[in-house]
Amino acid sequence: MIKRTYYLETFGCQMNVHDSEKMAGILEHEGYTRTLEPKLADLILFNTCSIREKAEQKFYSRLGRIKTIKARNPLAKIVVAGCIAQQDGKKLTARAPYVDFVFGPDNLKYIRDIAAEVAKEQFVLSENPALTDEALPSLREDGIRAWVNIMYGCNNFCSYCVVPYTRGRERSRPSRDILMELRDLAGKGYKEVTLLGQNVNSYRSDCDFPELLRHANDIKGIERIRFVTSHPKDLSSGLIHAIKCLDKVCEHIHLPLQSGSTRILQLMNRRYTFNEYREKVEILRENIPDIAITSDIIAGFPQENDLDHEATLQAISSIGFDGLFAFKYSSRPGTKAEAISGHLDESEKSKRLNDIITLQNNITDKKNKQLEGTVQTILIDRPDAKMKPGQLTGRTTTNKIVLVNNAASIPPGTILSVRIVRAHRHSLIGERISSR
Ligand code: SF4
Repeated sequence: MIKRTYYLETFGCQMNVHDSEKMAGILEHEGYTRTLEPKLADLILFNTCSIREKAEQKFYSRLGRIKTIKARNPLAKIVVAGCIAQQDGKKLTARAPYVDFVFGPDNLKYIRDIAAEVAKEQFVLSENPALTDEALPSLREDGIRAWVNIMYGCNNFCSYCVVPYTRGRERSRPSRDILMELRDLAGKGYKEVTLLGQNVNSYRSDCDFPELLRHANDIKGIERIRFVTSHPKDLSSGLIHAIKCLDKVCEHIHLPLQSGSTRILQLMNRRYTFNEYREKVEILRENIPDIAITSDIIAGFPQENDLDHEATLQAISSIGFDGLFAFKYSSRPGTKAEAISGHLDESEKSKRLNDIITLQNNITDKKNKQLEGTVQTILIDRPDAKMKPGQLTGRTTTNKIVLVNNAASIPPGTILSVRIVRAHRHSLIGERISSR
């Protein structure tokens, strides 16, 4: 049998990371082995992201460099998957005719036809099937933590976002299939699962999301359950109750705010006001006092004026997020926001982004400092080549990274109690107390 190799490069979010695990799973099942050198690969695969202009530019620049590899090795097949594939479709092959196959995130299974050389002619596929539910093998390398899709697509049509166009309408996987996947992961020794969806709060199949969490919580061997992402408008009392009462559900929620100005939230079509968002945060904290809340902010949305920006800074200060992913607004083709008048220039967006990051850094420093002297339980990660001998890392239930010295004998996947002795912005230093 001829040995074949693949090169796989992933851009974007956790959804894409997990989609790449599935494509790698199919390819290895078909007898391919991975190479880190595109010039050595029979199949060169890009799993792309179009959520921001920068990710898109980076991909097209990488694709341009692949052209010379294809010229030297015409038998190599170039595959573009993911959101740019879905969005640009035939435009992509017109721009880069050396690309052989293009398919969107709901058509991952076609990688099997390409790998088995059933697909020989160039094709572009960009429909969203009713449900992406085929059990595709995933090549997960972590061994401790796993991503698990519970739903696909989104119905919310935030005015700046391409996801409803690239990943289609919302479709939930049957709970039976999800729970079977979780039991299988538990059997393989996985300790932590992150349930993935664009808006997990609107998960609905034969049960709703809180009930799905209750069933997941009963699975023996799974120690921690996380989920992303939650839309604030759909955060229910049932979910808050589930986080509070289910022992394996981690005390962390990623709740994207996007702007502190209700006027801008309306332009974004987020369907909540800042006050409604703040009330939900208060209810979360009343019920789960130690919960960590992280968020997303878009700096410089069209028509955002100084007062709107100030409202965002005040919102960040008053809520006191544990962490923030802040980005400059980037116009995406085909979205409603693209057509809104009053786009800000890049230097103003950069200035506003800088204000947001500086403010959040101060908040993060203070929040982390408050953890000094506390005892936290961490789930030990797989060792990382960059770590010094004797060091290990793990995460708290609130998703903070903790570095522990003189503890290398503790196997990955162990739950360890540590005392936090020092806090940095991006990590905490812990001392071992006990393990189980
Ligand atoms: S909720 Fe809004 S931002 Fe999130 S994926 Fe859906 S449309 Fe995009």
